[in-house]
Amino acid sequence: MCGGLCWQQARRNAGNINLRLPFCGPPGDSMVASNATPSLKLHRHFRPLALGLIALVCLSFLGLGSWREWVLRDVELRGAETEISNLSQSLIRHADDTVEIADIVLSGLALRLEMQGTSAPALRTLKDFIVLRKQAVGRLRGLFVYDSTGRWLAASEEVDLNRFNNADRDYFRHHQANSSSTVHVGQPIRSRSGGQWILPISKRFNNPDGSFGGVVLATIDVTFFSDFFRTFDLGQHGVIALVAADRVILARHPIDEQALGRQIGMTVAGRAEPGETVRLVTLVSPVDGVERVNALRRSSINPFYIVVAMSRDDILAAWRKGAAERMALSAVLTLIVALLAISTVRRVDERHKILMALASSEAEFRLLAEGANDMVTRINPDGTVAYASPSSLDVIGLHPEQLVGSSTLPNIHPDDQQAVATLIVALRRGDLVKTKISHRMRHLERGEIWVESSLRVTRGGVDGKVNGVIAVTRDVTQHKLREVGLADLAGKDGLTGIANRRTFDQTLATEWLRCQRERQCLSLLMIDVDHFKRYNDAHGHQAGDECLRRVASALGVTILRPADLVARYGGEEFAILLPGTDAAGAREVGEKVRAAVEALALPHGAGGSLPFVTASIGCATAWPKVLDPLSHNDLVEAADRALYMAKHAGRNRVETSPELIGAGQRRLSA
Ligand code: GH3
Ligand code: MG
Ligand code: MG
Repeated sequence: MCGGLCWQQARRNAGNINLRLPFCGPPGDSMVASNATPSLKLHRHFRPLALGLIALVCLSFLGLGSWREWVLRDVELRGAETEISNLSQSLIRHADDTVEIADIVLSGLALRLEMQGTSAPALRTLKDFIVLRKQAVGRLRGLFVYDSTGRWLAASEEVDLNRFNNADRDYFRHHQANSSSTVHVGQPIRSRSGGQWILPISKRFNNPDGSFGGVVLATIDVTFFSDFFRTFDLGQHGVIALVAADRVILARHPIDEQALGRQIGMTVAGRAEPGETVRLVTLVSPVDGVERVNALRRSSINPFYIVVAMSRDDILAAWRKGAAERMALSAVLTLIVALLAISTVRRVDERHKILMALASSEAEFRLLAEGANDMVTRINPDGTVAYASPSSLDVIGLHPEQLVGSSTLPNIHPDDQQAVATLIVALRRGDLVKTKISHRMRHLERGEIWVESSLRVTRGGVDGKVNGVIAVTRDVTQHKLREVGLADLAGKDGLTGIANRRTFDQTLATEWLRCQRERQCLSLLMIDVDHFKRYNDAHGHQAGDECLRRVASALGVTILRPADLVARYGGEEFAILLPGTDAAGAREVGEKVRAAVEALALPHGAGGSLPFVTASIGCATAWPKVLDPLSHNDLVEAADRALYMAKHAGRNRVETSPELIGAGQRRLSA
């Protein structure tokens, strides 16, 4: 019944064709085989392409980092240029202010001299005037008055006026030769009164007739400028200089006495175009070899420049440190990303290779399976068919597509399903590696056929777990029929070797007639193994066959008379024909048979109340008579009913039919 129903289901499943390939791994992997060739082609270029791409990405990453650093470096330099440019603006303003203050003081002094003259009384108060002025303007070092011959008329310092004559000084000669009353900023000189480096700022005053009356001079310590310059942090190699229009250095920080009063080269000052207020140039100093960024700013009112210079190394020091750290970090990150990417590529590559190898072994499998006459099926762990070879059409009349995805069992004869299922479970559990079984299957057109299936487990994955079973199934119907046919010809049962049903039927008919003739009784024992289905379930079909053989031989041993016949009636049922044996004798034999089966002590395996294999026996006796409407079938039916009673009464017992078949006749004839 079940077989029929499942068979219908299998037929219905056939509509839902599953083209999955027989790959043992996860379902997704089964596509590999069909894509093997294009994948292989693609894969050949995968590794170099992937590695090339990784290299490109990493180089781009590093390239971008370098470019960003270069931009930051430029920003740093531009910032420094702006800074020194602004500083030069403040410094030139400071220098202009200083000259202006000196100019104001000198203008007042010159005016006084021109108005009051240089007479002795005027000179007497002049000294106090000068001292007061000098004290009022802190940045002035000294104030001096010289007559038209260079002789000292007054000084803010306490000196012997008659000791010096300044007619040789450049500024003096300048005013002597020039009638202009504008202020003159001279080159740095050593003070005659104090000996220190000073910057002379002078102005001419005239006699009442307009002729050259003399010179008033304000001096400023060169250190006044350099001290002020020092307050600005321009790094280790920074320089600030006040430079005259003729490139003579007037003041400098750091102080370099050798350089004071000297002309600087064309390198910096020579680049300042007239009219240009500020100019930025980067130069390598010929003196110390340091590369500096210079801001050169020209005063708009005085003939001098301010030069502010910063070393490029000082400007870029902080950037260099930061850039080195950032680039190192980028390099490390890039390296990590590259390593991760390379390891991923490797893993993908290896997986691909494994898949390719599997695909190729799968292809080999298919080649063998599809070329074979036997049906090759791959059974999934859940019992469904993963693959069936084309020969399934010949062996069981079904297309592979009809089998794939369906359960293995429905195509197997219901009586054999349990045995096959038990073996598959044992294989899946790993209890068996391979096995062979003969069983019946259903051919779509030819009906029941006999097959021999060789089963073997397959393993897969890294853990080598059982992932399926391969079955090679061969049609052995012809062979079986020959075997059965031969046994049948010999009147023997193929399994047990005792008389078969045909022999039993013939003998029963013959004995019935003989008993009729000879007015003898005829007894029949129908024997049925108890709960044999459960025995099969517990031990398997093959063990069941063996049990039947043992029971059959036990029956044979109990029969002593040559006319008696022990036959296999069918399945797990046996029959014993006892000609000339009455009901009491039959019951005796029946009891012996029952005891003999029990004595085999074959463990039943169904547990509980059934420790050993037993049989139930039904006995019937007949007195056949000529012209009696009863036949030998009535004897069989009566024995069957008695057997039913034995089963009903609890099994492992003998029951005798109460019916006295033909007994009335016997009594009459007797
Ligand atoms: P009961 O005690 O009522 O007779 O129970 P039972 O299980 O023996 O009876 P049932 O008729 O339901 O089952 C008989 C079983 O015997 C079913 C079948 O699989 C098994 N069988 C029949 N012929 C053979 C055979 O040749 N070999 C084997 N191994 N089993 C057989
Ligand atoms: Mg039975
Ligand atoms: Mg039975």
